[in-house]
Amino acid sequence: MQDLQAPEWDIDSEYPGLDSLALQEDRERVKGWIDEIMALQPALQGPEALATAQQMAVLQKQASLFLQNLTSYAYLKRSTNLKNHEAREMFDNLRKLATRLEQALQPLEQFVLRADQSLFQQFLDHPELSDSHFYYQQQRHNTSRLLPLEQENLISGLQMEGFQAWSTLYTNLSGSIEYQLTGEDGTVETVGVARLLSLLGDSSDEMRKRAWEGLNEVFTTHQESCAAILNAMAGWRLEMSERRSHTEPTHFLDGPLHSNRMQQGTLAAMFDVVKSRRELGQKAGRQMARVLGKDKLDPWDGQAPAPEEVSKPLSYPDAMDLIVAAFNEVDPSMGEFARMMQDKRWIDAAALPYKAPGAFCSGLIKSRQPRVLMTYLGSQANLITLAHELGHAFHSWVMRDMPVRQTRYPMSLAETASTFAETVVRNYLLRQAGTPEEKLPILWQEVSSIPRFTINIPVRYEFEKRFYEGRGNYYFTPEDFRSLMRETWNEWHGDSMSAADEMFWASKLHFYISEPSFYNFPYTFGYLFSQGIYAERDKRGDSFFSFYTELLRDTGRMTVEDLIQKHFGVSASEPEFWQGCFGLLDGYLKEFEAVI
Ligand SMILES: [Zn+2]
Repeated sequence: MQDLQAPEWDIDSEYPGLDSLALQEDRERVKGWIDEIMALQPALQGPEALATAQQMAVLQKQASLFLQNLTSYAYLKRSTNLKNHEAREMFDNLRKLATRLEQALQPLEQFVLRADQSLFQQFLDHPELSDSHFYYQQQRHNTSRLLPLEQENLISGLQMEGFQAWSTLYTNLSGSIEYQLTGEDGTVETVGVARLLSLLGDSSDEMRKRAWEGLNEVFTTHQESCAAILNAMAGWRLEMSERRSHTEPTHFLDGPLHSNRMQQGTLAAMFDVVKSRRELGQKAGRQMARVLGKDKLDPWDGQAPAPEEVSKPLSYPDAMDLIVAAFNEVDPSMGEFARMMQDKRWIDAAALPYKAPGAFCSGLIKSRQPRVLMTYLGSQANLITLAHELGHAFHSWVMRDMPVRQTRYPMSLAETASTFAETVVRNYLLRQAGTPEEKLPILWQEVSSIPRFTINIPVRYEFEKRFYEGRGNYYFTPEDFRSLMRETWNEWHGDSMSAADEMFWASKLHFYISEPSFYNFPYTFGYLFSQGIYAERDKRGDSFFSFYTELLRDTGRMTVEDLIQKHFGVSASEPEFWQGCFGLLDGYLKEFEAVI
């Protein structure tokens, strides 16, 4: 194999090691602050409640920051070597410390939630909390939905065994399933659900088909259990919404919308436009089918990979040069940033034996330094992953001078910078590609995203929404779930697919996550939003980069509506904004058509 020169990272600039004095000192500091917070608890009930709450809040800021820094360090240490037991132990110990901190802060949380408006304003007046207004205001969103303290305590006591247990049951159930899979050479292999799911991305049509049939078979066997889990989880959530509706009506979407800092009107406007444009995703599907040699896509083709790459493996330095050049076209400082990540060795790209799978970007919050981890093996997909993670890193870099409290963004906005960076690099590659054969795999990635985000994710959202609307006192049978999935599927796909994926409600883990519910619409939002941003690049020319970085800086301190209003000058509940996000997609499809 060719030497790819993929480096390991430097992480010990933060702490010289897991057993270093500097690390021990930080850990002792955190423990001390937690003790101080605990000691303050009783005073929250007395005449000095306000001053005590403020003091606790200031201590919370310090303790969280240091604890997070230590936890990231241990996590990063472990990620490059999953057999590093010391790192594992340190990580587990820090998790315990985090639970202690959370418990110590519970009375403060109650104070913030239950304070009347004037007391809450006084609380925020503390100079060291001037960076925390948005943070606490978000927390207080649920104030009108609170139940008496004893009831809240009862609910959180029952939560683990009474609600989260359903999600655990699904994980254990799907983890224990075994299936006899026949390979293309006729050999039979015992495989689990994870393997069947990963085979949906196989380059062989036959293997994708067998994996899909396997999933249908095993989940049909367990359909009664899956149905019971979904009914119970929705039942619990609907009961909670009803109980919390004592002052104002609470909708089952309120929770997931709030955690994505979005309003109902924004979501409705987005899906109205997406639905009216669903023929675009259908058309993309038909063209992908052509490349795969079919009339229509089959339900097992959603993750079919790009046709064979024609390019040679790229070494890591070459991949970085390419990313720097692509980023430079957006702005030289973005290219410089990528080069700095490389020079300072903040990227771990080496293929190591016990490294964590996948890729991520994380950060050391004390020094405000990002780190990127992945296994770089020279493929074009690796190059895009590297760009994606550097996009995340750039997002944190442009926020590095801001108060930490203002840098936490919701899932809806989390993929803004990463998707943007991917698109920048893909467009750069596309311009460099000479032949249709070179262009095809790059365009495949863009085009296959269209049905994924503008059809498949909306199907999940609408299926889940209709289920919640119908659930009430009605118990959904497996047949009900199948027909609801079929109906929703066909409504969105039209006749662009050979059949509906009827058992998708059982095979898709996302429906079974205890927190949050509706783990779907943020994906469509994030995808369209980053398309909308990329479209501004041409419109704004030289002023684009400041538009872009200012927008990124606001992702942790604004609602989605305020962010769109401020930076795009339009309302997120107007179809116009969402229509604009589709502009580039039409273009990708045309280019694709030209090379297939
Ligand atoms: Zn990402």
